[in-house]
Amino acid sequence: MSKTKKPTNTTDWKGIWVILEHAKGKVSGVSWEILGKARELGDRYGIRVSAVLLGTNLDEVAKEAIYRGADEVYVAEHEALMHYSWEAHTKVVTDLVEKYRPNILLLAATHNGRDLAGRLAVRLNTGLTADVVELDIEPEGELLVGSVPGFGGSILAVIKCEHSRPQMATIRPGVLIAQELDTSRTGEIHKIASDIPPNLITTQVLQEIPVESVDISKAKRIVAAGRGVGTNLELVEELAELLDAAIGVTRPLADIGLKSRDHQIGSTGVTVRPKLAIIVGVSGAAHFVSGIQDAETIISINIDEEALIFDHSDYCVVADLNDVLPELIEALKARLYSTAK
Ligand SMILES: Cc1cc2nc3c(=O)[nH]c(=O)nc-3n(C[C@H](O)[C@H](O)[C@H](O)COP(=O)(O)OP(=O)(O)OC[C@H]3O[C@@H](n4cnc5c(N)ncnc54)[C@H](O)[C@@H]3O)c2cc1C
Repeated sequence: MSKTKKPTNTTDWKGIWVILEHAKGKVSGVSWEILGKARELGDRYGIRVSAVLLGTNLDEVAKEAIYRGADEVYVAEHEALMHYSWEAHTKVVTDLVEKYRPNILLLAATHNGRDLAGRLAVRLNTGLTADVVELDIEPEGELLVGSVPGFGGSILAVIKCEHSRPQMATIRPGVLIAQELDTSRTGEIHKIASDIPPNLITTQVLQEIPVESVDISKAKRIVAAGRGVGTNLELVEELAELLDAAIGVTRPLADIGLKSRDHQIGSTGVTVRPKLAIIVGVSGAAHFVSGIQDAETIISINIDEEALIFDHSDYCVVADLNDVLPELIEALKARLYSTAK
């Protein structure tokens, strides 16, 4: 079926909407980050900020959304929305958007957020800027401007959606800052009756199997490993433990399952901004660097003095990691041990 692009009358589309992603009422950090940015933009341009919550038992979360920056919250509660279901979520959000007409619609660039955003953009016949790392609104307070890394992070494409509404974007975790909880904030909570026909849902959750998931985007210290470590992360893990640091890896290590995808840093992984990053056995491909370049201090260890990672490092150690890491670990242990006495 082909669709003809119809120009939308943009003047009656108002406000910034943020779809809050949550698991059983625990909202993901990235959703709070997006809401925080929406609040900042709303304050700057006098725009109303609305949060959207879909699921069950959402009273407390709705209040938290107000405390974290929303002026109002649309809450759609329905058994069919308990788990993410593309059929139900797409229908409910499409109905809400068509009724209330937000100018801007923001979602998290997570598995579910990306899935939902693509479907909504098609249903609503509008434009979607995917995987945004910087977000702004033009001075007139109307047009959303999303920046997206291209060609492995070597360029930043600035994208606008001038002729369709809502202007949609998904935002990557770790690139924006959430607002502090302010329990003195007040706002409106609108309960929405959702019309979800039972035959709409074609999939069913039979069993929930918990999987270990980590969020390294907020880590203050990170030890990041690349192919130079081979297939043994023992030294990296020991160093990370001594430094109370999270472990990050390059994509090849996530590909072979040495660490889960949550630990992958880069353009198709997580964006991190730690105070300290120790990067070992990583060549410094643009796809990796784009995810870690905002670290405050970067120390890199690489056997190859020409390695690109050194162009992005504050301290460059040209050496075999198998020589340096054991010495570093011993020195740290000695220091920790002596201060513990
Ligand atoms: C569309 C696309 C998306 C991508 N997304 C990502 C992404 O999100 N994240 C990501 O990381 N990659 C991503 N990649 C892959 C990326 O382009 C690189 O291939 C990858 O980052 C290289 O990983 P690496 O540095 O571990 O391995 P290599 O490039 O093989 O580098 C290994 C390094 O280890 C050094 N070394 C070897 N032995 C030692 C030793 N004993 N001591 C010290 N140093 C040593 C070598 O000198 C070398 O510099 C993507 C690629 C594509 C095409």
